Amino acid sequence: MTILYFDERFLEHETGKHPESPERLRAIGTELTRSGLRDRCRAGETRLATVEELISIHDGKYRERLEKFASMGGGWIEQDTFVSPNSYAAASRAAGTCISAVDQVMASVDKNALCLVRPPGHHALAHDAMGFCLFNNVAIAAQRAIVTHRLERVLVVDWDVHHGNGTQDIFYERQDVWFLSAHRFPFYPGTGKKNETGTGKGLGTKFNLPVAFGTTRKDYLTQFESVFQDCIEKCRPQLILISAGFDAHADDPIGSLGLQTEDFETLSRLVIDAAKTHCQGRIVSCLEGGYNVTRLAESVGCHLKELLKASE
Ligand SMILES: [Zn+2]
Repeated sequence: MTILYFDERFLEHETGKHPESPERLRAIGTELTRSGLRDRCRAGETRLATVEELISIHDGKYRERLEKFASMGGGWIEQDTFVSPNSYAAASRAAGTCISAVDQVMASVDKNALCLVRPPGHHALAHDAMGFCLFNNVAIAAQRAIVTHRLERVLVVDWDVHHGNGTQDIFYERQDVWFLSAHRFPFYPGTGKKNETGTGKGLGTKFNLPVAFGTTRKDYLTQFESVFQDCIEKCRPQLILISAGFDAHADDPIGSLGLQTEDFETLSRLVIDAAKTHCQGRIVSCLEGGYNVTRLAESVGCHLKELLKASE
């Protein structure tokens, strides 16, 4: 069975008229209930991350600053990122939930998990919030897999339309966490060129696929598959984490790379097949972006359907 993490407390990260709104998760919840997909999953228990877990990736001073900023009422912590009084707790729960999913997938008979968390994480830097993200959930989960579960090679696949700059930056010099990002380019946040492949011991463990706006769906998928296979053969991952953003959808108001809902099925299957070959199907998928709430909910449904199929 797929373990599904969904918690009303993620709605308490209140952002007003911001595109990264609680409405995103509400729409996903409604769609997964309507389609019956939710009932086919095992419900996972969300939890807060400990301070120690948060600072396994983040600068201690940044963590303290964020906690204080939220407790003082919040506001804009940087130009794109809004913090409400409960945002620190929600962000800590998002990170803790992704950690918990790694623990469950490594230990139990359930080989994959979907963490429907917010705020998202892949732009968050070790020392700062960025691009709607407070803590880097997927990076914290990868660190858990390396340190606690003693894995040597974890792969983060990031198909959000924006480059996962925070994740790349955190692991740029490391060879134990591999990273593949396909993203619109040139576009926010400006990083993710093909020649960004890591440095030092990490050289050759980071894969970037910049995709120009106007690229056809077919070409996107062909290019994605080619880079992905190259990465998989070199990495031979022991666990795959997905930074699952759905803002490359053609109807997304702030992203868009021309994809249709069913393309997320294709992407999911590619990753699932590789996970079956290399790591007994072990996948932890963490929600990132996706701002057309209807398309987001449909796309998450497509993604979850494939995860369920693989785990039954
Ligand atoms: Zn995005």
